[in-house]
Amino acid sequence: MQPMIQPTEKIWHNGQLIPWEQATVHVLTHALHYGSTVFEGIRCYATPAGPAIFRAREHLRRLEDSARIYRMEIGYSGEELLEAMGELVRANRMESCYLRPLVFRGLGEMGVLPLKNPVEVYIACWEWGKYLGPEALAQGVDACVSSWTRLAPNTLPAMAKASANYMNAQLIKMEAVVNGYSEGIALDAAGYVSEGSGENIFLARDGRLYTPPLGASALPGITRDTVMRLAGDQGIEVVEQDVPREMLYIAEEVFFTGTAAEITPVRSIDRILIGSGKRGPLAEKLQKEFFALIRGEKEDRHRWLTPVRAGRPVTV
Ligand code: PMP
Repeated sequence: MQPMIQPTEKIWHNGQLIPWEQATVHVLTHALHYGSTVFEGIRCYATPAGPAIFRAREHLRRLEDSARIYRMEIGYSGEELLEAMGELVRANRMESCYLRPLVFRGLGEMGVLPLKNPVEVYIACWEWGKYLGPEALAQGVDACVSSWTRLAPNTLPAMAKASANYMNAQLIKMEAVVNGYSEGIALDAAGYVSEGSGENIFLARDGRLYTPPLGASALPGITRDTVMRLAGDQGIEVVEQDVPREMLYIAEEVFFTGTAAEITPVRSIDRILIGSGKRGPLAEKLQKEFFALIRGEKEDRHRWLTPVRAGRPVTV
């Protein structure tokens, strides 16, 4: 079950904190009609040093990349947006939360050509628990291979985190859920494994990890990168290669990675048990390392956490 959003006090809009209720848009907003939005999903974790944003720089860079691909001017630097996120978390007195920067073409001209429409920048935050359910991290989830294909190259660019891409994601997710699965895994236009509706995917075989390359219409996930680095730190080899669908069924482990899903094991795909049908040892090892880092229990050796307490230096 997805949680209902619990309102907070403030939302950041074009440089100012505004009351939650005032963060509304006109019905003729360009983005509402033509999908012209790029966004990010970022977690801010509770640590002994107070709330800290995880890999803020990388998320804000991806937001800039997404905007550039769609010829949008954000009008705020990464540093300004980082400041804004800190300000927002403090204003809403959150200990931990999910942050959602949203950049879209606003009210102005009507028509597909968006270049003269104002670009609106919002950042909201709210509490968000475990995306695929609290037990999913330990037990794993049941997934299916989707009958929907991920965005083909030269259609919607998969490297941009654009709202329009999520119409495809919604088809994948709805089909999975109405058929009794937690998540769908999409293949790319060539028939190789791409990703989940909102997660990247990894599989393990013979002690090695495999993940599809970005050319397989996968989002350049920040958690994907985190897992690749944590695996590297632990001497686990990660191979980025085209993954044929059947490699999923014969894998010893499969897991999803994402800001919302974190590291979520997959226990079955199309009702075929993956390995022993439980969380595998590599997923568990990586989860342990990941959770220790984000809780601030281990030294932040990669400098991935940005504390948001007032008076703390923030850097991009
Ligand atoms: N793929 C898709 C389609 C996603 O929506 C997400 C979530 N942003 C991911 C992968 C994982 O990316 P990240 O680890 O940066 O959250």
